[in-house]
Amino acid sequence: MMGKIPAILVIDDNPDNLTSIKAVLADSIQGVKVLTALDGETGIDLALSGNPDVILLDIIMPGVDGLSVCRQMKQDERVSHIPVIMLTALKTNRDIRIKALEAGAEAFLTKPFDEIELIAQLKAMVRIKELADMQRAEKSKLSSMVLARTLDLEKELAEHRKAKEELIVAKNKAEESDRLKSAFLANMSHEIRTPMNGIIGFSELLKETNLDTDERDRYVKIINDNCQQLLHIINDIIDISKIESGLVELDTAGFSLDMMMDSLAGNCQKEVSLKGLEMILSKEPASLAYDIIADQTKLRQVMDNLLSNAIKFTKEGTIEFGYKLKKDKLEFFTKDTGIGIPEQYREAIFNRFWQVETGLARQYGGNGLGLSISNAFVKAMGGEIVVESTPGLGSRFSFSIPLARSDKKKCDDAVHETAPLDFSGTTILVVEDEPDNFSLMNIFLERLGFHVEHAWDGKEAMQIFHEQTNISMVLMDFKLPDIPGQEITRMMLTLRPDLPVIATTAYAMHGDREKTFQAGCVGYLAKPIRFKELADTLNRFRK
Ligand code: ADP
Repeated sequence: MMGKIPAILVIDDNPDNLTSIKAVLADSIQGVKVLTALDGETGIDLALSGNPDVILLDIIMPGVDGLSVCRQMKQDERVSHIPVIMLTALKTNRDIRIKALEAGAEAFLTKPFDEIELIAQLKAMVRIKELADMQRAEKSKLSSMVLARTLDLEKELAEHRKAKEELIVAKNKAEESDRLKSAFLANMSHEIRTPMNGIIGFSELLKETNLDTDERDRYVKIINDNCQQLLHIINDIIDISKIESGLVELDTAGFSLDMMMDSLAGNCQKEVSLKGLEMILSKEPASLAYDIIADQTKLRQVMDNLLSNAIKFTKEGTIEFGYKLKKDKLEFFTKDTGIGIPEQYREAIFNRFWQVETGLARQYGGNGLGLSISNAFVKAMGGEIVVESTPGLGSRFSFSIPLARSDKKKCDDAVHETAPLDFSGTTILVVEDEPDNFSLMNIFLERLGFHVEHAWDGKEAMQIFHEQTNISMVLMDFKLPDIPGQEITRMMLTLRPDLPVIATTAYAMHGDREKTFQAGCVGYLAKPIRFKELADTLNRFRK
């Protein structure tokens, strides 16, 4: 029984033979499909394209004989599974029959052949072919399963490899961050202890009674400088926390860029001269005819940081800094002839805590936060810091921010300092719960001529406020033990809306300033409060 209608390929150089075989097949096998070829090459092509179930192949043919055709087909895996029945008239030639079987033929028929035997052979071969087809289908199914599984395994392997690589990167990052944190803590400890050492040591020395005025002034200056250094570190830590919490906001206003640059130059002139360096302030154009709008505090802080690095890392030569107007952008730069930065560190120095120098042999101070803070500020202003450097020759840091011009040229940048200030006859209420803070403020205020009333907390403040009608200014600490300073401010302003209340707070975070203004304060002083700043602020709001 044949499962499907078979296709038989007959290859014979004799057209009559082809016709007669075709007729026999058509008579005996219903619906049989017969393909015929008159030579070996055409036969092979038909075997490849027609996928016959059996091939009847004549041995003796001109050109390529049947034996070579059979050999070729048995070596080609696309057709090697198709059973071949060899046909020959050479009934007696035993060698030929053996050669035919050796060439790979499955069966052998001699001409003239018995039709019944031919059909029986064919049917047997078709069954063999059916089995071979099933085997091949099974094999191909298995191979596709193996292939699919192999692909799955390769994918899994690639995923594992990727996960491993990611883990290694994460591990390295964690180790790097750990290393940076340890380095940071060690640096911080050093950076904080050094000024503390100066402050504590020289405060002790100040107690000595036999100091002359020069010595006393020198010690006081050292204490003051060290305090500034400490404040700087604290401000850096606050800035970095703000940056990490995404709280960097710009506080833009119009100001004179010329004045800012001159003031920066003035501030570092002394340090530059002490190190024997030359300083060049370069402005292109030499002066701007208008004010610019930007966050002056942040811009100044960035330039200040770049400048102090330039000075710190330069032993001899020149520090140049300034701005260049480039169409609608302002480029700021600092350029030094210092130690330079090796290429492999030029990106990393913008990371938090990152310093080229590490370990105990560090020659240059610093906490490794300056550049990352500066870059975050510059990014907030719409630019990015770029560094060019040649080790041993120096570095150039630059950044560009969009130019925003202010309509009117402001004059109130000028410091309000003229004649010494005198507030004699003015009563001021100081609401302050810290004794040391109050003592200091009291000294400052009395020096300015104020009559000082003091309250330790909110309740006492309201009591004095009600009793003393001559209070004409208030310095209000916002963090009080009983009632928040903003509440007290509101209560006072409800009763006396024109009373100038100036907030004093140790929280220099973003938003604190806004809170004080929302409560109705006219001014804001962040602690530590400096004498000059206090005097200027009080002067600005006196009635
Ligand atoms: P700090 O100066 O406190 O170490 P910064 O973040 O400002 O921190 O700078 C990081 C590092 O970049 C410095 O420690 C130094 O190694 C390198 N660096 C910065 N500016 C310069 C410069 N002008 N010349 C040479 N190295 C510099």
